[in-house]
This record gives sequence, structure tokens and C-alpha cells, in this order.
Amino acid sequence: MLGGPGVGKTALTQQFLTSEYMAAQNTSFDDAVECTVPVLLDGEEAILEFIDLPYTGDPEVWREYDVEGYIIVYSITDRRSYQKAIDLLNAIRRHRGPHTTLILVANKSDLERSRMVGKQEGKGAAEGYDCKYTEVSAILNHKVDDLLVGTLKQIRLSMDRE
Ligand code: GDP
Repeated sequence: MLGGPGVGKTALTQQFLTSEYMAAQNTSFDDAVECTVPVLLDGEEAILEFIDLPYTGDPEVWREYDVEGYIIVYSITDRRSYQKAIDLLNAIRRHRGPHTTLILVANKSDLERSRMVGKQEGKGAAEGYDCKYTEVSAILNHKVDDLLVGTLKQIRLSMDRE
């Protein structure tokens, strides 16, 4: 899970842990929070392991992790976080190739009145990088379970394509 500071990565991870699925959490030596969530899709269970990296300002931190996919989070109330998310999409797509699962998450959908980044803008950017787009509210737990299932779906699809 990647994104600028304050966009809601920790809040999302917390919601994964309290989702309808049983989940476990531990903190590794580098302060990255790892959260293990069993997710059921089409009758088949998978264990998704999320790594919530503390924000260090290093735009290349994702390179250290060999993962199946990336959830890139921005806040709809923070245009700078959107630009960061786009930079990440661009860099990861270039370096990891077309099969890596990328999901662009516009968080804080409950703060509609403070919105600075339009839905169409986010959607358009996601299409440009061949990635899925979703708007969620970590605080209200809105669409967070859909994000879990959608992530698993995309990972399975990209594994089939490889
Ligand atoms: P992180 O730095 O990306 O891990 O962001 P945090 O999860 O720590 O969230 C930063 C701040 O945004 C906290 O005050 C959260 O309560 C708040 N926040 C996170 N998600 C949401 C959301 O969906 N809606 C609203 N209104 N606030 C949120």
C-alpha cells in the first residue's frame, strides 16, 4: 500500500483488520505494518498480505518489495497526494511491466465538500495506466470490503495472463 502522508493508508489497513474477514497484524522491524486477510472469491479462499509502508519521502521505496500488486492511495481533498499517486503509477508501470496489478484508490469520499480532485480525473488517470480505480472512505468503511475482493480479483487475473 503506497501513497503520500495522511491519505489514509493506516486507516484503510485498520479497516481491513476489522473487515468481515478474520485478520492478523504484526509490525516488522522496519515499522512496516503487515496485515494478513483471508479473502473469499468465487468459492476459493486466498490469503492477502498487505504491507503498509511508513511514508519516508523516498519515491522509490516500492522497489524493495517483491509483491503481486500495488494499492496506491490518495485523498480526494489533497491534490498533492493525487500527483504523488500518479507519479507512483507511472514509475511502477514502467518498471514492473504491464502485468503487475495496480489499483488507484481515491480515499476520503465522505469529505465531498472539500473535494479537490474530481472523480473523472482519477478514473481517467487510472485508465491511462491500465489500472483499476475505486473511491472509498476508510473512516466510514465504505467500499473497503469491495477493495479487498477487487484486489484479489485483479491479482488472479494478472496471474492468469502471465
Ligand atoms: P496515512 O499517513 O496515509 O497512514 O494516513 P492515516 O490513516 O494516518 O490518516 C490520516 C488522517 O486522515 C487521520 O486523521 C485519519 O483519521 C484521516 N482519514 C483517513 N481516512 C479517512 C477517510 O476516509 N475520511 C476522513 N474524513 N478522514 C480520513
